[in-house]
Amino acid sequence: MRYLVTGAAGFIGTNLCLKLLEKNEVVAMDNLSTGRQENVDLLSENKNFEFVMHDIVNPLPDLGEFDRIFNLACPASPPKYQQDPIQTLRTSVWGVWNVLNYGAPVIHASTSEVYGDPAVSPQREGYFGNVNPVGPRSCYDEGKRAAETLIKDSKKTATIIRIFNTYGPYMAMDDGRVVTNFINNALSGKPLTIYGDGKQTRSFCYVDDLIDGIMAISGLKETGPINLGNDNEITVLELADTLEQVLGKKLEKEFMPLPQDDPKSRCPDLSLAKKLISWKPETDLRTGLKKTIDSFR
Ligand code: NAD
Ligand code: UDP
Repeated sequence: MRYLVTGAAGFIGTNLCLKLLEKNEVVAMDNLSTGRQENVDLLSENKNFEFVMHDIVNPLPDLGEFDRIFNLACPASPPKYQQDPIQTLRTSVWGVWNVLNYGAPVIHASTSEVYGDPAVSPQREGYFGNVNPVGPRSCYDEGKRAAETLIKDSKKTATIIRIFNTYGPYMAMDDGRVVTNFINNALSGKPLTIYGDGKQTRSFCYVDDLIDGIMAISGLKETGPINLGNDNEITVLELADTLEQVLGKKLEKEFMPLPQDDPKSRCPDLSLAKKLISWKPETDLRTGLKKTIDSFR
């Protein structure tokens, strides 16, 4: 099979390409805005890998036929997607339009952020969400919501996957998300930066579990949206505690202001994915953190 992966130089993109390259040809597309050249260099060691530098906001060049496009291109870390909110929105909407018009079936990476600061927990796919249209997170949340609308209204062959917080090897250490900040600070002897009181919840999925889910969904005719993630909901403080256990030492904590519109809770209802692909996340947080720390070291 021959696949196009947009956003291939990023965290999930690199992990997905490594999996796809076990049996297939991969053309990777990225503008290297948050993705890393070192990921491209690693993937380029495989002769079935080709890299194309391109911003999906512009119409895609003709690269031949693909069995499927995995559309991952979009910054995912709040400080990164807020750096250039207009570009984030353009990537989310115009970029998705360009990908849809290439003419191959699309697996589209949407996000739990479409649920905003949810009023119900866990979040199932039928929940419409609670999103501020004019806040600092709106370029991403509303962009991803509009992309889902575009995919459905276009009637193109595409599947929407709503990814919940995922972590693991090949994350950029400076990407600003909580897992990377915590590991980075712990390894360099700095205090863990806790935003707000740390009682807000997230559920963290190890990337191998996510990739298994994406691969299984890509073989279905289902169009989604389908939640993928881990349903072990914990507070940010509990994440810090788990990291202490994994590293076997007490870590200093520094409390900082909670960013505006930071969701108070987030946990996927995974019933649909479990029914469709007989899949469930297998990696517990301690094991996943250990593997991630090893890769960072
Ligand atoms: P990432 O920032 O590591 O990777 C995104 C990649 O897309 C980068 O390589 C970046 O350079 C590239 N990119 C950004 N804008 C582009 C553009 N206009 N044209 C071409 N390339 C562009 O983020 P990630 O965590 O790997 O996320 C990948 C996808 O998964 C994103 O669409 C994100 O919204 C989605 N997602 C991720 C998570 C998560 O927890 N990691 C959660 C929900 C959804
Ligand atoms: N967070 C934190 N310290 C950090 C980075 C993030 O306490 O150094 C919090 C953040 O406020 C949020 C949660 O951790 O409540 C997850 O943040 P992240 O940016 O990883 O992803 P989000 O789910 O907010 O997109």
